[in-house]
Amino acid sequence: MIHFVGAGPGAPDLITVRGARLLTLADVVIYAGSLVNPELLVLCSPYCEIHDSSGMTLEETVAIMREASESGKDCVRLHTGDPSLYGAIAEQMAELDRLGIAYEVVPGVSSLFGAAAALGTELTQPGVSQSLIITRTEGRTPVPELERLRLLASHHATMALFLSAGLLEQAQEELLAGGYAADTPAAIVYRATWPDEAVYRCTVGTLAACAREHEVGRTAMIIVGSVLDGAGERSKLYDPGFSHGYRNAEGDATCG
Ligand code: SAH
Repeated sequence: MIHFVGAGPGAPDLITVRGARLLTLADVVIYAGSLVNPELLVLCSPYCEIHDSSGMTLEETVAIMREASESGKDCVRLHTGDPSLYGAIAEQMAELDRLGIAYEVVPGVSSLFGAAAALGTELTQPGVSQSLIITRTEGRTPVPELERLRLLASHHATMALFLSAGLLEQAQEELLAGGYAADTPAAIVYRATWPDEAVYRCTVGTLAACAREHEVGRTAMIIVGSVLDGAGERSKLYDPGFSHGYRNAEGDATCG
């Protein structure tokens, strides 16, 4: 059995309990050495065979999984953050389907949420933004035409940019062209949840300069949007005048 496991954003205690348990039981582990914290590997048994996938091709990774599966071994494929975001697991799962090898996916804490926690922000605030756009700047990997930053920016929603720390001149230009005001708050969160985590607050108009000033070129999450300004309107959920399935409004005994 192959288990695609989310390792979390960096801090080793941010893996899920399920993911940690699978690591302790694994016969084979393939981890993305470029971003996964190697401290997690102390959970593995001394007999576990460990591979770093950072220099490997899809074919090489799948060959290890295939061999593990054919020998009846348990294999953990450890991805940074949550495996479903920019984890390239679709192509691995397609290969495993083709080979008839069983697998499962164990979610993880995405670096996006590690960054939101570092910022102490709620990404969806009433009256400010109720949507989160997860995207990236186009670099060597293309982005579909209809998902260009410039088009997504027209919503003025909260936006999280993965894989973009080295492309912020271009990102800034697109965000401004798409309609964010230059003074819209933005933040660069470098290595969220790692010991050297750093938070740089700026605006859409100063994103690129901020990255340059602090020499941030990789492993950073960019968050853009007015939610970074602080509290929006009060939520309905905890409003004393609003009834819902778990609580009646004050003075309103009939609603359920
Ligand atoms: N699946 C991962 C993302 C992998 S793509 C997840 O859910 O987090 C790699 C990109 O994720 C990096 O370019 C960077 O934008 C972001 N990233 C990964 N770890 C990070 C961290 N600790 N802090 C900030 N950004 C991080």
